[in-house]
Amino acid sequence: MSQAAERAEGAAPGHEWRNWSGNVTARPSAVARPTRVAELAELVAGATAAGRAVKAVGAGHSFTPIAATDGLQITLDGLTGVLRADRNTGLVTVAAGTRLRALNRTLALLGLALPNLGDIDSQSIAGALATGTHGTGGRYQGITADVRGLQLVLADGSVVDLQAGGDDPELFEAARLGLGALGVISAVTLQCVPAFDIVAHEYPAPLSDVLADLPGLVDAHDHAELFWFPWTDRALVKANRRLAPGADEGRPLPRWRGVLEDEILANGLFEAVCRVGAQRPALVPQLNAVAARALGERTYTAPSDRVFVSPRRVRFVESEYAVPRAAVAEILEGLDTFVRRTRAPILFPVEVRFLAADDVWLSTAYQQDVAYVAVHQFRGMPADHYLAELESLAAAHGGRPHWGKVHSLAADRLRELYPRFEDFRAVRDRVDPSRTFANEHLRRVLGD
Ligand SMILES: Cc1cc2nc3c(=O)[nH]c(=O)nc-3n(C[C@H](O)[C@H](O)[C@H](O)COP(=O)(O)OP(=O)(O)OC[C@H]3O[C@@H](n4cnc5c(N)ncnc54)[C@H](O)[C@@H]3O)c2cc1C
Repeated sequence: MSQAAERAEGAAPGHEWRNWSGNVTARPSAVARPTRVAELAELVAGATAAGRAVKAVGAGHSFTPIAATDGLQITLDGLTGVLRADRNTGLVTVAAGTRLRALNRTLALLGLALPNLGDIDSQSIAGALATGTHGTGGRYQGITADVRGLQLVLADGSVVDLQAGGDDPELFEAARLGLGALGVISAVTLQCVPAFDIVAHEYPAPLSDVLADLPGLVDAHDHAELFWFPWTDRALVKANRRLAPGADEGRPLPRWRGVLEDEILANGLFEAVCRVGAQRPALVPQLNAVAARALGERTYTAPSDRVFVSPRRVRFVESEYAVPRAAVAEILEGLDTFVRRTRAPILFPVEVRFLAADDVWLSTAYQQDVAYVAVHQFRGMPADHYLAELESLAAAHGGRPHWGKVHSLAADRLRELYPRFEDFRAVRDRVDPSRTFANEHLRRVLGD
């Protein structure tokens, strides 16, 4: 091993790694932070030769132990930044450890943006891709669908450049959403679009009214989403519309209102409410009723990433399933019955989003337009039965779990849900026969 790679790999005696939620911990035997692709390749080759497991880690924002390892943990924080950008084609190549927040900022300076985003921007781009991170929009797709090229470090230390329609189409297709199981991504080329603003319209409404015309809501808006407050019939609807690039409807959210609503109400006060609910679970129904009424209507215009992304400071655990859109009402009804029957102290709203079908092998939206139903529970409060209930409700509709959020499915079931599951496993057998990139979680979901 070169001196640089040796320096990059620090011993980590007693080092405990913890994910954002705090529900997953691991004790890697060593931690490395390469700053060049050659160093990364050398670290991976050395680990494979020594029969040692390797796991790349991004921002640790997955709720599953998908990023956990007791072997060599490689953080990509030393490989960041935009490497190449073409404003005419919108193709942007970015180092794998780049956080979405930094990427969005650079794209904005270039007059570009990602077509769609999830609700936070703390993730690394490679970590976001590895679990199929998505936002909402009935005609839009998840971030993996934007991938046009990947640079991947394989178990033997070789560095391959993969493109759509390139020499190894199977590896490209698998690695777009690769669960960290095929190699360490060092760079990603993304198809971006000209920067655009969004007119955000958020309003409270009775859940029954929203469900009565869910297809209408999704079809009429580029990015529709709803949050239903358990114990109530209240929902907060986000019905967001994209503006053509350059168009300006000029209604920014006053700064004081952003701070009040997004920081104080949605985070500071919400954290306090969760703490009261954790101490006094019997109060949860009333607390929810108050929370559901606290959010009013607002309309504002802002650059796309500022509308897609919200601060999320209150820590929680989460499960999310992609289901056919027609199943949403039945699943919410099932959750309502469960919460009331078990008197479950659920303070977080249930989130429902929508996405168009794509062709990414392990995408939760593979070849089907989907709705996503997500449940959350305040960190430290009982969550298992609630999350399991969503799993069983979603199972009745062929629900596909988000790869980065809590679920208990294993390969036998996932094989039935993903038509290209065996193709993915065949690619993995080819590029990682000795399972350098395996961990316990992948052994469960991929079968060995
Ligand atoms: C508050 C919060 C909000 C969220 N909101 C959304 C949302 O709106 N939509 C959504 O879909 N998800 C959401 N998520 C889930 C999150 O987007 C995913 O779990 C994502 O994978 C986290 O990215 P990360 O950089 O933290 O990756 P990590 O959790 O660190 O790692 C995830 C996987 O990526 C692999 N990986 C990381 N880097 C590389 C690399 N260079 N090469 C190969 N594999 C790599 C890891 O090995 C692991 O398998 C949210 C999570 C949180 C905590």
